[in-house]
Amino acid sequence: MSSPVLLAHPLQADLAADLVRLHDAVSDPSDGVRVAVTTSRFGLSADEVAALPALEAIVSFGVGYDSIDLEAVRSRGIQVATTPGVLTDAVADLAVGLLIDTVRQVSASDRYVRGGRWAADGNYPLTGQVTGRKVGIVGLGRIGHAIADRLAGFRCEIGYHNRSVADVPYAYHSSVAELAAWADVLVLAAPGGGDPVVGANELAALGAEGHVVNIGRGSLVDEPALIAALTDGTIAGAGLDVFADEPHVPEALRALDNVVLVPHVGSGTRETRRAMADLVLANVDAFLERGELVTPLS
Ligand code: NAP
Repeated sequence: MSSPVLLAHPLQADLAADLVRLHDAVSDPSDGVRVAVTTSRFGLSADEVAALPALEAIVSFGVGYDSIDLEAVRSRGIQVATTPGVLTDAVADLAVGLLIDTVRQVSASDRYVRGGRWAADGNYPLTGQVTGRKVGIVGLGRIGHAIADRLAGFRCEIGYHNRSVADVPYAYHSSVAELAAWADVLVLAAPGGGDPVVGANELAALGAEGHVVNIGRGSLVDEPALIAALTDGTIAGAGLDVFADEPHVPEALRALDNVVLVPHVGSGTRETRRAMADLVLANVDAFLERGELVTPLS
């Protein structure tokens, strides 16, 4: 069977079923494919794009687009849509959860209780406090703003670094190193795909009481430098949703007690994943009906 819609990579079951029901979507590439549906995790490589001669649009489930070869796509005039906005709250919720967990050591103290150490070794050591902490956000976009809004309830002071200055009531820092030197917690909420923006220098600037929270992309951080900094006490701890080579998390990171590791679940709530699926469907419908995407990548 041929269809203008390709399920280019595995999708969540309800979305795949909707695309088959509504558009007879297929899983095998063919010359008739006009719209390829993928996810931010798998994207679409230059080879995959080249194998689809009639491709006009890529619709991606997720907001990161570092897995799509934009150069190959743009050279052919192919449009790209992602699912921005609908996942902002879920990712920001998780970022704040990771921040609280790393600073207050919720997961580590859970292990302390489960391991019988409370009775054996006595009270858990004191931790830092979340309320009033200075939080530096790298990537003050939709998700970064939502994190800052939530942290207002904790009376945190917010600073940020973007490539350009935004019209916001927060202090701008012109480099990640400068932001790290100011901050108690560095939160990464920028797109990935380029060189790391956090390496040994930025981690040294953050300092021994500092924490890193990364819900952006693993590629934002020099992972070996992060592991070294967590191991030798250059920084205090980290909360990570994203990694350099997902789903592989280095043993050296998994062995550390001062990190909270979650498996890229920032947008992973039932409500948000359904809203993302609906936005994918709206983009596919709009493109097939009138050649326009609802949420095109600018
Ligand atoms: P957005 O609204 O486009 O915000 C991105 C922000 O990052 C912008 O303020 C941008 O400002 C800044 N930025 C871009 N490149 C930068 C760089 N090299 N250094 C510093 N700042 C930079 O996107 P969003 O919806 O908030 O999503 C942000 C990212 O979160 C996504 O790209 C994705 O990687 C990640 N994400 C993760 C999950 C998860 O499950 N963990 C889920 C969704 C999204 P300037 O243009 O001025 O630099």
